[in-house]
Amino acid sequence: MHIPNSQQPNGNYLIAPCHSKKIPLWLVLLDNIPTLLLFILGFLIINQLSTIGAIIYGFYTLFSVLWFWAKICPYCHHYDTHACPCGYGAISPKLFKKQDTKSFKKVFSRNLLIVFPNWFVPLGIATYLLVKFYTNGILILTLFFSIIGFIIIPLISKLVGCKNCEIKEDCPWMTIKMTKKNKVA
Ligand code: SF4
Repeated sequence: MHIPNSQQPNGNYLIAPCHSKKIPLWLVLLDNIPTLLLFILGFLIINQLSTIGAIIYGFYTLFSVLWFWAKICPYCHHYDTHACPCGYGAISPKLFKKQDTKSFKKVFSRNLLIVFPNWFVPLGIATYLLVKFYTNGILILTLFFSIIGFIIIPLISKLVGCKNCEIKEDCPWMTIKMTKKNKVA
């Protein structure tokens, strides 16, 4: 567990209460609104090919978020706190029991794949539609989807959401990025 501390003038260390921080509402919204927009755009893209497919995608996005609350958040240090950048840490305890935080890294890596289809299925279908049935409407949807999913969401995570997280050293998502940076340096 990463416990932030700071040295006092008398040389003693003040141990800050773990996860005492409360994430402001604007940050929670900043973390969630682009994701919601991404899901809506994904739905609209798939709907160009199949309405049933789009509905299945809609249910899958809900299922993947529920899975995240059930299978990842209960192992996180932010479970049952208001320190979680996207607010899931406050929702998960209402539905799922706390688990051993020592397994967080392993559990996170094992379950993160569940959210990948939310990004890559609409992108794959958009590519197919652009090649086979090009319209300006599909191009605009694809551009918005790609900008939100592959630029805006990662940038928010990098510059705001995860940047100041108290447990980023424990998070596989952040340590993968740090390891890559260290290798480059
Ligand atoms: S930081 Fe991530 S894993 Fe932890 S409670 Fe929030 S959403 Fe869940």
